[in-house]
Amino acid sequence: MKILEDRILKEGRCLEGGILKVDGFINHQIDPQLMQEIAREFARLFAESGATKVLTIEASGIAPAILTGLEMGIPVVFAKKQKPSTMDNMLTADVHSFTKWQPYTLCVSRRYIQPEDRILFIDDFLAYGNAAMGAISIAKEAGATIVGMGFLVEKEFQHGAEELQKLGIHVESLAIIESLDNNEIKIKGR
Ligand code: 5GP
Repeated sequence: MKILEDRILKEGRCLEGGILKVDGFINHQIDPQLMQEIAREFARLFAESGATKVLTIEASGIAPAILTGLEMGIPVVFAKKQKPSTMDNMLTADVHSFTKWQPYTLCVSRRYIQPEDRILFIDDFLAYGNAAMGAISIAKEAGATIVGMGFLVEKEFQHGAEELQKLGIHVESLAIIESLDNNEIKIKGR
């Protein structure tokens, strides 16, 4: 997606450990117009998926997920990263955090993911695929079906997409980063 790629090339920064910082328009300050374009693209790419619900993870996934839900006319659920004291009857999955190097537990109330749900998972980044695997585990526990996974940025060199595709999942990434070596952002196809 050209406008997202242009923005990454212009404003993205490479950090140690293969991390791309995009907090001027995705992760901290958010560009709502860009997010709307992103959501329209996801709605187009997953138009045939029959999704009944968007699932994401707090906090960075919420903005693109909510706009995608709006475009597709379906509800949005975000997994919490801490067990809320008020939540019982939860679906949970343990995930290794890519950026914080600490495990966390995804929590979603069973009430909001039902066996008949067809889940479209949306997140900001796909690195090794741990967060996505957590979402798959939550859906499985609920008896629901994952019908697609959409990422704003995929870091191809960390191979998460391969792992998801091995499971037969329809994966769409709007910008694919080939490398962040030598502090240089290389985007696939450019
Ligand atoms: P994975 O679970 O696929 O290894 O990593 C994906 C999760 O880690 C995403 O939810 C995202 O929040 C975070 N993440 C992974 N790589 C990056 C990155 O390069 N930059 C930022 N800002 N977050 C990342």
